[in-house]
This record gives sequence, structure tokens and C-alpha cells, in this order.
Amino acid sequence: MKLAAYLRDCGCDVCGVDLSGNPGIGEWSSFEPALLLARHLKLPVTLHCGEVDGTGAEEAAMIAFGPERFGHCVKTVRWFTFIVVVWAM
Ligand SMILES: [Zn+2]
Repeated sequence: MKLAAYLRDCGCDVCGVDLSGNPGIGEWSSFEPALLLARHLKLPVTLHCGEVDGTGAEEAAMIAFGPERFGHCVKTVRWFTFIVVVWAM
């Protein structure tokens, strides 16, 4: 995150950070501290969630984080509660 912020501040085309990848590896809680640092450094955050079934609790935590953008959410968009929460943000 510090490198991304440094490069942004040097005029490189860094527009934010994006958490994506295999949803079966890792947990939101292990990535959240780094993304909180991104927020502290004023780097916009994109989170990919809802790409597989059965991750509702993790998705709720990611929604609560309040990223600037969500990626994919191909499974989540069918979850009515998610739509209501995102709409209220
Ligand atoms: Zn994705």
C-alpha cells in the first residue's frame, strides 16, 4: 500500500487498489488491515466479493468496510439484503 501511495504521489497512474483472486484462498480478516492502510493513505479500494456461494458473512464484513467500488458480485447481486445495504450506502 505504501508503494502504491508513493507511486501515486510521484505522478504515476495509480488510481487505487483492488482485492481480487481465488475466493477459496484466504479470509477477509487477513486482508482488512492492509486495506485499512490503503484507506488511511487515501487510496480508493475495490473489493471483489460474492463470486461463490456460501460467503455471506464475509460479504457482509466487506460491505461494512465500505469500499469505493465492488467487483463482480455475480452471486451476491441475487441476495436481496445485499442490494438493500449497498443502496443505502
Ligand atoms: Zn472478481
